[in-house]
Amino acid sequence: MTRRICSSCRTPAIEVAYKDTETRCHICRGKLIRRTDDKPKVIKKRLKIFDKDVTPIVKHYRLKGHLKIVNGKQDPDKVTKDILKIINL
Ligand SMILES: [Zn+2]
Repeated sequence: MTRRICSSCRTPAIEVAYKDTETRCHICRGKLIRRTDDKPKVIKKRLKIFDKDVTPIVKHYRLKGHLKIVNGKQDPDKVTKDILKIINL
């Protein structure tokens, strides 16, 4: 979890372009900061909310036989293709 963004222009500091020791944005020289949504406390809260809000919906549709699963780890174009196939577009 080393994703950082520029505190000034909000450009992500992509890992392949930045060394871990770099502290300044390549574009505007602004200070690089860690994204607040990458902090463990924020991630735990997000997962808790997901479990509370989304899990019951998944269970409901699974019981009704209407749940379709798409592998979101695939190439984005393949994910789109699989979704469109499911909804018959
Ligand atoms: Zn910047």
